[in-house]
Amino acid sequence: MTLSPRARAYDHLLIDLDGCLWIGDELTERAAEALSALRDAGKGIAFLTNDVRHAPEDFVRKLWRLGVRAAVNEVVTAGAAVQHLLAERHDRGGAFVIGSQALVDHVADAGLRIVNNTPFATRADLVVVGGHEAFDYRELRTATQAVLRGAELIGATRDAVFPMPDGPWPATGAVLAAVETASGRLADRTVGKPEAPMYETALDRVGAGRTLAVGDRLEVDVAGASRAGIDAALVLTGGATRAEAAAADPAPTHVADSLAALVFGP
Ligand SMILES: [Mg+2]
Repeated sequence: MTLSPRARAYDHLLIDLDGCLWIGDELTERAAEALSALRDAGKGIAFLTNDVRHAPEDFVRKLWRLGVRAAVNEVVTAGAAVQHLLAERHDRGGAFVIGSQALVDHVADAGLRIVNNTPFATRADLVVVGGHEAFDYRELRTATQAVLRGAELIGATRDAVFPMPDGPWPATGAVLAAVETASGRLADRTVGKPEAPMYETALDRVGAGRTLAVGDRLEVDVAGASRAGIDAALVLTGGATRAEAAAADPAPTHVADSLAALVFGP
């Protein structure tokens, strides 16, 4: 199928996963077809997610399972953006990580020494925080002491919750708030959408050209794209409405019922 004029106008698309490409374990309507058409037209693709619990490889497997071709370097998680940020800064030294093994791996791959479970944990130069199911008091205590001793504090995101079938689960923002409260210090920076490092990572992956970010949340996907200086398309598969889009500041460049409607629509 031929692309809409709106989709044709861009060289690259940064595509949000949850609420845009898929909802839970199901693609949004005709999303696989839309991705195929974008590929056939030679568009560069990056898949963006604030999820820090899973590795890019996990998302590649899910994408293929649902019928969407994807390569690991096309998946930009908030953890991958943490790695990009730390690698760009040529950070060295010790890092204490609250987070999944995927996040620990990203920090280690950026060149930092992981001091978790060592006598040096509370003397870390850097504390990185991502929500994970095994989060416990000991981690909170170690992170607090390291930050009080002067460690830089980086949050993977400020997301309060993430959607799960049985209801919202506490996300990285909730864990980060615990460290901030205990240490009396706000994070030095956060990385995931809508913050700049996420978009810098994605734009580095797709390269030069006109880029459109597509997502379902005004305050995350549209605000983040605006800060990064790129166009944004809001899709309505995540609960946002046209009325909210019209009232939003910044406003999305495009509004479409779904990702497929954006790619194929008028
Ligand atoms: Mg989303």
